[in-house]
Amino acid sequence: MANSSYADRHAPDLTTKPCPKCGNPAEECIWVEENVRQGWYCPQCGEFDKAIGRERVCES
Ligand SMILES: [Zn+2]
Repeated sequence: MANSSYADRHAPDLTTKPCPKCGNPAEECIWVEENVRQGWYCPQCGEFDKAIGRERVCES
């Protein structure tokens, strides 16, 4: 079972990211056609954290 704290310590997991505004988990938004990560959307407060640089590369 995936544990978020385990992932934080052992592997870079960019599927979710703490919201910069409220700290709740923000979910990744991927542009499927280009396989590019657009950023992370927080369903709690509506914040969108735009991906920059290598964060935009989706390797999955
Ligand atoms: Zn938020």
